[in-house]
Amino acid sequence: MSTLSTTFLPFHRALIEEEEKKAVLEVLDSGWLTSGPRVREFETAFAGYVGASHAVAVNSCTAALHLALAALEITAGDEVIVPTMTFAASGEVVLYRNARPVLVDCLPGSFHMDPDKIAAAITPRTRAIIPVHYAGYPCEMDSILEIARSHQLKIVEDAAHALPASYKGKMVGTIGDVTCFSFYATKTLTTGEGGMITTENGELAERMRILSLHGISSHAWNRYTAQGGWRYEILDAGYKYNLTDLQAALGLAQLAKCDSMRNARARVAEEYSRLLMDQDAFTLASVPPGHQHAWHLYVVEVNPLALRIHRDQVMEELKERGIGSSVHFIPLHLHPLYQKQLGYCTGQFPNAEDRFERALSLPIYPDMTPDELGRVVEALRDIARRFHV
Ligand SMILES: *Cc1c(COP(=O)(O)O)cnc(C)c1O
Repeated sequence: MSTLSTTFLPFHRALIEEEEKKAVLEVLDSGWLTSGPRVREFETAFAGYVGASHAVAVNSCTAALHLALAALEITAGDEVIVPTMTFAASGEVVLYRNARPVLVDCLPGSFHMDPDKIAAAITPRTRAIIPVHYAGYPCEMDSILEIARSHQLKIVEDAAHALPASYKGKMVGTIGDVTCFSFYATKTLTTGEGGMITTENGELAERMRILSLHGISSHAWNRYTAQGGWRYEILDAGYKYNLTDLQAALGLAQLAKCDSMRNARARVAEEYSRLLMDQDAFTLASVPPGHQHAWHLYVVEVNPLALRIHRDQVMEELKERGIGSSVHFIPLHLHPLYQKQLGYCTGQFPNAEDRFERALSLPIYPDMTPDELGRVVEALRDIARRFHV
């Protein structure tokens, strides 16, 4: 095809600039590479940014979710409600605790979990709910908080997509009992790998902090400095989940531009919505009123009534035109682990399966140029023209 551009437009591209490089080099020069002053600074800055009382830095969102469930003493025989429309991490952490992930379906026409299905899934063993703020805008938290309150359940939010996002004026990170963020390479703020836990509960924060570093007494991170003492106590069987100063320095530089990166992604989203509005082959992403969207993902749904080809072929067509795309997510209940070991089956969560069959995540990142956006739009228009029913 003569219109084929030679450069591949990736699905994601992190915005790493001079500030990040400078910050990392400073840490290398400082001689202190692991968790230290930069990590404390990052925690304080992050807590301030989302308006949370406590922030604990860890090396992934998966670690954050695991520590949250551990600190809440979720244990064998307990049940935790998890949406089936999520990434592996949100469910596997429940299994780490030898508890059972109880999967629930999406709201009809949505990628978010259905509060009525949550209520219906509650049993005497239920201890917690893990809402996933899919794509970057919050779940219906009023309903979920009400359900949790009336059944004394804890809320651990998987906010891997939701920085920065808010629900009815409240920042994600200040709503549930514990909120877990991801700084994975493709997320809205990256440290390569990394994560953050926020909570209003000081006791929980302290427990998670101790568990994040071998279960040893909380101020042991500075035991190699002039101020720190060499003695430490092992209080619990903890984990090796600490973030490093190298990562925290990267995170601080990224946090400083979190708002401007979000606004740049929002502009990309607005442009997609404006330029593809007239296409019946694709249902576009939208935001419910009262929700501020982080725009981690821009997910369109391929409309099988308007297009002769399946989503998978749309992705292939995009790839042939040099454009990367992705699918979020293959619902948990369709995976062998959940079918063979936990007894879930195909057909059990029809809304999630329907979403999954049509979902297509388009490239969206802060430094995407109008030309790059135009290429994606033109490719989708071309595909819609060629394969329209
Ligand atoms: C990326 C992601 C995670 C895991 O984040 P890590 O930092 O890689 O552990 C968890 N949940 C969702 C919904 C994600 O997209």
